[in-house]
Amino acid sequence: MRIAFITVHGCPLRQAGDKDSGGMNIYILEMVKRLAARGVKVDVFTRHHDSLDPQIVTLAQGVRLVHLPAGPPSLDKNGVYELLPIFVAQMRRFCILNKLNYDLISTHYWLSGLVGMRLAFEWDVPHVTSFHTMAEMKRRGRPEEIEIRQRDASESEIACSAASVVVWTEDEKEAIVNYCGVDPVNVSVIAPGVDLSRFRPMSQRYSRDYLGYGPEKNILFVGRLEPLKGIDNLFRAVASLENLKSITLSVVGGDGNSQEKSRLEALVQKMQLNQTVHFLGPIPQEELPIHYNAADVCVLPSYYESFGLAALEAAACGKPVVASEVGGLPAIVNHGRTGYLVPPKRMDVIAERLCELLEDDLLRGQMGAAARIQAESLGWDSSADSLLRCFKELIEDTSEPVISLAGD
Ligand code: UDP
Repeated sequence: MRIAFITVHGCPLRQAGDKDSGGMNIYILEMVKRLAARGVKVDVFTRHHDSLDPQIVTLAQGVRLVHLPAGPPSLDKNGVYELLPIFVAQMRRFCILNKLNYDLISTHYWLSGLVGMRLAFEWDVPHVTSFHTMAEMKRRGRPEEIEIRQRDASESEIACSAASVVVWTEDEKEAIVNYCGVDPVNVSVIAPGVDLSRFRPMSQRYSRDYLGYGPEKNILFVGRLEPLKGIDNLFRAVASLENLKSITLSVVGGDGNSQEKSRLEALVQKMQLNQTVHFLGPIPQEELPIHYNAADVCVLPSYYESFGLAALEAAACGKPVVASEVGGLPAIVNHGRTGYLVPPKRMDVIAERLCELLEDDLLRGQMGAAARIQAESLGWDSSADSLLRCFKELIEDTSEPVISLAGD
């Protein structure tokens, strides 16, 4: 089986947590490696984004990453829309020159969905799409979210034309069915996972010493810096805590030059949280376990979260998580057992839960241990098995029909 993965703006080699790179990039990398380990040949097509990148990179045995030129390397993801016809032409050309045929196309995010829709039609192969985020879901979480004009209609068109839409939660399935008018039979819910050997409990004392932390209790946020993540609400919650002097908040991830970073830094100044909040910038994923392990609690105060890999990684490291009750987060946080679910935007409730957890070592220990046990059922291998099953069924469906003889 040979599959083309298309991720026009989300190169899996990009640093997650920076600019537009995050959970989707991690998901693709984990999935393609595991599909290859199951005997599938995978080519991942992405836009050339760095002049030093070679055109083809081997990611693992059986997985190649192909950088295709389409527009200037440094470009915001929304700028990519206009370049999609060039990307389609480049991909077509690459496949003809290299005599490549694929059994199925798997696309990620609506921009890539448009490319996949076009090529799947030309090549007459099944197209499986995953949006990772949807315009409508983002707006429901935070009505101020602005998307480029074409996104809503494109998402409906892609979803209705695809052989299958893979989503991460039942919530997202409902949205795709209701909002895009897709037949529920064509939507598969396949939750992503976590690398359980990378993200595992380690000594908190060792981790804190390694990072040079003092005796203060540490709250951790991991993710891209964007308004949808609700980090300002976390700052407000932390600012209201009484024992502020004995607390630090580490913010991991975020493009240093972004508008959102400047806005959050200004907020920290205004709230006089300079001694409490530390912006650590994007950190390679292999270095993240030590940050999760050094922390006392991890918080995801998002307005919307399609899944929330950071919450699952924290849980796998044995940490309690306080997270908004949105998107995939209720599938990760078992309220009252492995952490707390809070209504989004309610900084008073976040503060209350942080207080409870930071003041009670026993509770944190119990919740952390339960979090790890729960995370153990969410490894990447079962996600990869389910995705492969979905691909196989679609490929079998479209292969030549068996003509039965009269009387059979
Ligand atoms: N991440 C990382 N380094 C950072 C920040 C984040 O490697 O500095 C990774 C993190 O481990 C997680 C992903 O980026 O796997 C973020 O995924 P999540 O689902 O939490 O958020 P999304 O980016 O999808 O909104």
